[in-house]
Amino acid sequence: MAFANCPATSLSSGRTGSDRVGSMRSKVGEVHVIVGPMFAGKTTALLRRIKKESSNGRNVAIIKSSKDTRYAIDSIVTHDGAKFPCWALPDLSLFRQTFGDEAYQRIDVIGIDEAQFFEDLYDFCCEAADRDGKTVIVAGLDGDYLRRSFGSVLDIIPVADTVMKLTARCELCSKKAFFTLRKTQETETELIGGSEVYMPVCRQHYVNGQSVVRASATLSGSFKVKDDTFPEPALAV
Ligand SMILES: [Zn+2]
Repeated sequence: MAFANCPATSLSSGRTGSDRVGSMRSKVGEVHVIVGPMFAGKTTALLRRIKKESSNGRNVAIIKSSKDTRYAIDSIVTHDGAKFPCWALPDLSLFRQTFGDEAYQRIDVIGIDEAQFFEDLYDFCCEAADRDGKTVIVAGLDGDYLRRSFGSVLDIIPVADTVMKLTARCELCSKKAFFTLRKTQETETELIGGSEVYMPVCRQHYVNGQSVVRASATLSGSFKVKDDTFPEPALAV
């Protein structure tokens, strides 16, 4: 397949169907998806791939959800403290307009972190990869604390080139952890927090933990989380 270098097309702010035709490139895009529970190193894996693309001379940009303000708003920070500048946005559709059309044209690789918070993930990935020839690398939770599909992350599997599911270490037995257990009794799907609220667990401890959480919720409306000590019978206490 031949790749031609098309000059960047400057678009007006109001994009229409004809604009889209005008912005089409012969460059072929890609979509890569990194999923897994919390504390599985998804952000670290995303940053590693972004840094590699950058060192290969490609222009990169990272987007994270502005809902996640656990860390500095305009930088992406891994659990081990590594930092990377990024764009914090409520919706992916705002990226092009916020970033600027010309800058967008020059971008080769777009990283998306905490992708479960973006409702327009599918449309963004299709447009960026199919229409605009971008490489999109997406990192996010595949499931929520009840192991239900979280946001639109699973919706983009059919349009992905590659999918990688990472594992963490079970906080209770150190086996491979595939799931995220919520330690507290809040029931909203989007409850942003770190290790004070969530822990990675294996299947056995997920099932045990869920039953303890349910039993505790039935018996008592309030109980405190004790960090550091999680004997199995008191898993969610
Ligand atoms: Zn375990």
